[in-house]
Amino acid sequence: MSNTIQYQNYGPQNNWVDGKYQPSKSEKTISIISPYFDKEIATIPESNYSDLDDAVQKAKTAFLSWSNFNIRDRAEVMFNLKSIMEKNVDELAELISLDNGKTIPDSKGSILRGKEVVEFATSLPTLLQGDSAPVSAGINCTMTQEPLGVVAGITPFNFPAMVPLWMIPLAVTAGNCFILKPSEQTPLSTFKLAEYLKEAGLPDGVFNIVNGAREIVEGICDHPDIKAVAFVGSSAVAKIVYSRAASSGKRALCLGGAKNHMIVVPDADQDSTAKGLLASSMGSAGQRCMAASVAVGVANVDPIINQLVHEAKNFKLGVDMGTIVSKPAFDRITNYIDEAEKMGAKVLIDGRKATPPEGYENGYWIGATILDNVDPEWPSATDEIFGPVLSIIRTDTLENAMKIENGNQYGNAAAVFTTSGQVAKTISESASAGMIGINIGVPVPREPYSFGGWNESKYGHGDITGRSGVDFWTNLKKVTSRWPESNEAWKKYF
Ligand code: NAD
Repeated sequence: MSNTIQYQNYGPQNNWVDGKYQPSKSEKTISIISPYFDKEIATIPESNYSDLDDAVQKAKTAFLSWSNFNIRDRAEVMFNLKSIMEKNVDELAELISLDNGKTIPDSKGSILRGKEVVEFATSLPTLLQGDSAPVSAGINCTMTQEPLGVVAGITPFNFPAMVPLWMIPLAVTAGNCFILKPSEQTPLSTFKLAEYLKEAGLPDGVFNIVNGAREIVEGICDHPDIKAVAFVGSSAVAKIVYSRAASSGKRALCLGGAKNHMIVVPDADQDSTAKGLLASSMGSAGQRCMAASVAVGVANVDPIINQLVHEAKNFKLGVDMGTIVSKPAFDRITNYIDEAEKMGAKVLIDGRKATPPEGYENGYWIGATILDNVDPEWPSATDEIFGPVLSIIRTDTLENAMKIENGNQYGNAAAVFTTSGQVAKTISESASAGMIGINIGVPVPREPYSFGGWNESKYGHGDITGRSGVDFWTNLKKVTSRWPESNEAWKKYF
C-alpha cells in the first residue's frame, strides 16, 4: 500500500479547554478504533454537561477581550494557522487516516479544502468593513457585523479536520468564541487543530473542544449561553439538532445527508464521464456527502457504463480508496448490496469480494460496487448508503431522469454529463439541489462560493462557508445618527 498507515495507540485523551488539555469530570470513556486495524488507538472522555458548562464559561470570559481585538489581529491568527497547517500537513494527514480510514493523499486533499476556508477568513477585514450612507437630511446610517458570543459546532466522522474548518476560521475571525464537539469516531486530528490555533496566537478560551456524544450535543442545543449552533452530519440528527437548538432560541444551521444523482446522456464524452463517475462515487470510499450515489442513464449509455466497470476493476483498495469507518457502517453497506441483489439488481462489480491490501487484513474494506437496473423505489436508490456503491437507474427520457432526481428527499448535489449546452442548461435549471456539476461529479464550490444543499440535506437558512457562513456567525448592527447643528460654542471655528 502506498503511503503506509502505521498503527499507534495514543492512549487516553482529554478535552481542550481554555488553551490546554483538561480531564473530563465524567468517568465514562469512548474507545477510538482504527478502521485500518480494527484495534483501539485512543480513548476520549464521554463528557457531561458540567464539562460543557466549564468550557462555555471559559469561552464567555475569553469573548470579552477577543471580540474587542482589532479584526486585523484576529485575521493575523488565520495567516499564521495557514502556514502552521502547511508545515504539519503530514502529521495531520496521518491522524485523519488512522481514525477515519482515508488514504493519506485523500486526507491531504481534505486538509487543503479546509485550508481554503482559513485563507478565506483572512479576507474578513475587508468583508466586515460594514457600510455607511446618508439616509436623510443630516442623518447617517452605518451597518456593522458583530460577533454573536459563544457559538458551537458539531461535526461528523467523514471529514474530521475539514468540516470543523468550515466553521472555526469564520466564526473565530468574526470575533466569536467556539466550542467544538467533534465526531466521537474520529477526534484525533481536531486536537492538533487546537494546538495549531494556540501556536498561531489564538488566546486561551477562544477555541475549546468538548468530547462526547449525545449528552453534549443536547447540552449545546440547550445551553443558555450558546448563541448559535452549526451541525454537519446525518439528516435524522440534523433535524433533531435544528429543532432543539431553535426551540431554545438559538440560530441554527444543520447540514444533513445526501443522495446525489448523476444524469448521464449518450452524447457525454465517454472517457471523462466514466472516470468522473468512478471518482465521484468511489472516492473517499463513497463516504462523503458529495459522493455520486445514483447514475441515471438516459437511453443507451452502455459504452460509458462498460468503461466505468472496466476502470472500476482497476480501482485499488488502499491506493484509490481507504476503508469504511467502522464495523457497523461496513455491515450497513453490505446489507444494502445484499438486499439490492435479492431484489434483482445486476451486480456489475462486487466490492464485497475485494481483497484487502497486505498488512491491513483486519480493516473494514469494501471495494467499488456497481449495481445496474436498480428500480427508483428500491432502498439502494432512495437511501443514503454512504459507501462505495453506485446504483444505476435506466430510463428513456430526460424528463424521467429529472423526475427521479427531483423525487429524492435530499438536495445536496446533482450533476449532468453531456456535450450539449441545452441538456446542461435544462438539468442545471431543474435539478432540486444546492450544488450542481456540469461534467463534474463532485461539484464542491470553492471559496468564496459557499457550501450547502437544499431540501433534507439542510435545515436552516444560508450556507456554511463563503459569505453566507460569515453572515451566519454575525449579527447586523445598524447605527443611525444625527448631530445637532447649533452647537454655539463651536460656531466661531467654522
Ligand atoms: P451523525 O449524524 O451520526 O453524527 C454527526 C454528529 O452528531 C456527531 O458529532 C455525533 O456525535 C452526533 N450525534 C449522532 N447521533 C446523535 C443523536 N442521536 N443525538 C445527538 N447527537 C448525535 O453523522 P456521521 O455518521 O458522523 O456522518 C455521516 C453523515 O454526515 C452522512 O449522512 C453525511 O451525508 C453527512 N455529512 C453531510 C455533510 C454536508 O455538508 N451536508 C458533510 C459531511 C457529512
